[in-house]
Amino acid sequence: MRIPIIAGNWKMFKTTKEAVAFAEEFKKLYKGTDIQAAICAPFTQLEKLVSEFKGTGIKVGAQNVHFEEQGAFTGEISVGMLKEIGVDFCIVGHSERRQYFNETDESVNKKLHKLFTTDITPILCVGEVLEERDAGKEFEVVKRQVVADLAGLTEKQVSKIVVAYEPVWAIGTGRTATPEQANEMCAFIRTTIEELYNDEISDKVIIQYGGSVKHSNATEIMNMEEIDGALVGGASLVPQEFMEIINF
Ligand code: 13P
Repeated sequence: MRIPIIAGNWKMFKTTKEAVAFAEEFKKLYKGTDIQAAICAPFTQLEKLVSEFKGTGIKVGAQNVHFEEQGAFTGEISVGMLKEIGVDFCIVGHSERRQYFNETDESVNKKLHKLFTTDITPILCVGEVLEERDAGKEFEVVKRQVVADLAGLTEKQVSKIVVAYEPVWAIGTGRTATPEQANEMCAFIRTTIEELYNDEISDKVIIQYGGSVKHSNATEIMNMEEIDGALVGGASLVPQEFMEIINF
């Protein structure tokens, strides 16, 4: 039984003051659902959010982590630092990090291995860019990412991972993949994991869709057979709007 996860990815939005205001409002609206709700916030907001959401069931995630234990890596954050704050999730390999910050499948893979030394659940993002889809290469690209990113992980580790299929052309563009396109790729990701491991493992993996998810399209996306949740950017910044997605 996979429990769907709807997570907000705030990206580089909200100061601490704004994050606390969001949390106060969001807690009032949150009545508890069968869906796991989470907010992935900038590093500086994590500690406050963990304390704001304590006892509510709402989880908190980071948006990135470094793969080394510690060291001379100016500006980076380690898994130990995240663990101490008490975050539940960590996004890894978001397309914006791949695009602007030289994130590669190799570094993503190292980050996943490092996160699995703790109980922080990775949310691994994969997805093709527009030119790749237009060239009919979307399955090839996503398969290559999944295979390289999961390399060397054990069955037990992979069974606990969350994968977010985020077609880059649908992020922040208002252009959503159709529910059928999203469902097809989520199914393909599950089959790829089955080929790499087995169906017992692939059945356990939560596979989300991300890219211009809003209240108006959340129901049809969430009702698709192979989609176990959503990773929501812009629409997670407003408490009422994000809650409407969670209550899709
Ligand atoms: P938008 O929902 O703003 O398109 O962002 C999607 C995303 O990148 C979530 O990680």
